[in-house]
Amino acid sequence: HADFNQKIDYVFKVVLIGDSAVGKSQLLARNEFSLDSKATIGVEFQTKTFVIDHKTIKTQIWDTAGQEKSSLSLSEHHMAFPSLSQYGIRRYRAVTSAYYRGAVGAILVYDMTKPQTFEHVARWLEELRVRTDKNIVIMLVGNKSDLGSLRAVAVEDAKEFAQKENLFFMETSALEATNVETAFLTVITEIYRIFS
Ligand code: GDP
Ligand code: MG
Repeated sequence: HADFNQKIDYVFKVVLIGDSAVGKSQLLARNEFSLDSKATIGVEFQTKTFVIDHKTIKTQIWDTAGQEKSSLSLSEHHMAFPSLSQYGIRRYRAVTSAYYRGAVGAILVYDMTKPQTFEHVARWLEELRVRTDKNIVIMLVGNKSDLGSLRAVAVEDAKEFAQKENLFFMETSALEATNVETAFLTVITEIYRIFS
């Protein structure tokens, strides 16, 4: 309640990306962000304020409303299904660029029980690199670590990939709230280091 007149030193935009059903929305729900705005374009963002180095940092985390397809895979889809309307494509592109515009951080999520979602990480990464600032901070997140017996992506493989691509990496469980806070905080601290 003491925060009403708090001065905001920085506003950072972070996007959540990755295949559908990997747990992006649950990761966000775990973080006790406040729902700030619901855009009409099929995305929404939530905000949370952090204090680092006595600086007040407002973070907007953008989440998709269940239309996860990178525009790269959408173009493939378009080639395979030429009937997909030009209008639909154009609208999708407009939404996609609004989603990425101004992002300084990304949390790229896969489901460690679903190898396909890990295989698609390279594609999501390519989309990020095409559409965002080259200094963007990226955290690769292998979610659903609570489902250990169903693990289908080796932690070594993910680590190696992250190292090669210069990403932070963490396994999380949105269900058990394991590493969720740490994942967001790591990204924000690194953004602060780079962009402040
Ligand atoms: P999104 O499409 O990437 O936003 O995925 P959601 O957040 O909607 O989650 C998809 C499904 O996975 C839901 O049924 C969630 O309850 C479930 N889920 C998300 N995170 C976890 C997790 O860490 N562990 C388990 N066991 N299930 C999860
Ligand atoms: Mg979602």
